[in-house]
Amino acid sequence: KRRIGVLTSGGDAPGMNGAVRAIVRMAIHYECEAFAIYEGYDGLVKGGDLIRPMAWEDVRGFLSEGGTLIGTARCKEFMQRPGRLQAARNLISKGIDALIVIGGDGSLTGADVFRAEWPGLLEELVSSSQLSEQDVEPFKHLNIVGLVGSIDNDLSMTDATIGCYTSLTRICEAVDSVDTTATSHQRAFIIEVMGRHCGWLALMAGVATGADFIFIPENPCQETWAEDLCATVQKHRKLGKRKTIVIIAEGAIDEKLNKITPNMVKDILSNQAKLDTRVTTLGHVQRGGTPCAYDRMLATLQGVDAVKAVLECTPDKPSPVICIVENKICRRPLVEAVAQTKEVAVAINNKDFEKAMHLRDAE
Ligand code: ATP
Repeated sequence: KRRIGVLTSGGDAPGMNGAVRAIVRMAIHYECEAFAIYEGYDGLVKGGDLIRPMAWEDVRGFLSEGGTLIGTARCKEFMQRPGRLQAARNLISKGIDALIVIGGDGSLTGADVFRAEWPGLLEELVSSSQLSEQDVEPFKHLNIVGLVGSIDNDLSMTDATIGCYTSLTRICEAVDSVDTTATSHQRAFIIEVMGRHCGWLALMAGVATGADFIFIPENPCQETWAEDLCATVQKHRKLGKRKTIVIIAEGAIDEKLNKITPNMVKDILSNQAKLDTRVTTLGHVQRGGTPCAYDRMLATLQGVDAVKAVLECTPDKPSPVICIVENKICRRPLVEAVAQTKEVAVAINNKDFEKAMHLRDAE
């Protein structure tokens, strides 16, 4: 029987559990054995009890649970070859040669490094007498498939990452709550949202809540943003609006790449627009809680395809990452998706914002 391992890595994202559930059950459906690798790459490096067989009922109830029930971690050892050598040994000792990694671009990069090194790692395990030729013979190729679990929706070549719509929902709920007090007191609120270098959460939260102004890294404001902000806010006030909502991505910058912080915006609104202004940083509330319906659906459909993909992998084909483009689950080359994602940061640093926006696109 084929053995398929699944791990969650990097920052947790709502819907990861739904993906694990779908993978375990689809693996069983295909008469494979499913293994959960606990605590991300840490579990792969440490092995032992952190790599556990999973039965159908072990993932019961996973679909509606937030976070990741099999744990996640940032693992320094896996960044180094000796850690990955240890990981290869552990996988072989458990009889696993098919791995599904659910995580962000860092985790997927790690997965690809691991796959590329795999033949060399096997050679080293044999030459250092840790394993025999016979031990490694059935594990000549490591099949790897990626699933993108991240609230940031920062991976190129896919429309949505598992967790981003739950996070967006949480942000909208928070803005709605702030709205009532803002309207009552005629206040301005600056809401900082997550997303690291990606402005998707801020942009979509702005659209979904009817915010007055947003700051995102991919389409930075001009250096004169303070005047533009005051003019926009004052225009809205003149139209009878009793509240002001400004959403700022944590990676917000101006076109000269100067960082824009919530307190900078607060000072402008307080001192120049003369508004009673408060800052609300949502923080980890945006990551937590029950996954929304979309993330449960996405995680399940992508988990199902990940198992099919990992069984179809051949050494000559690049590892795929499971994406969604125009509402269809599809596969894209993992390395290319990660490389395109990294190019966004380069384009922003080069002040080529049009290119950055283009690179964020699915295709
Ligand atoms: P998030 O988007 O939530 O931060 P991520 O997957 O990008 O998720 P990272 O912290 O970048 O999170 O990566 C998670 C783990 O993946 C790292 O702790 C490390 O173990 C592994 N990893 C990342 N990059 C590499 C790499 N270049 N080589 C080997 N392993 C890596």
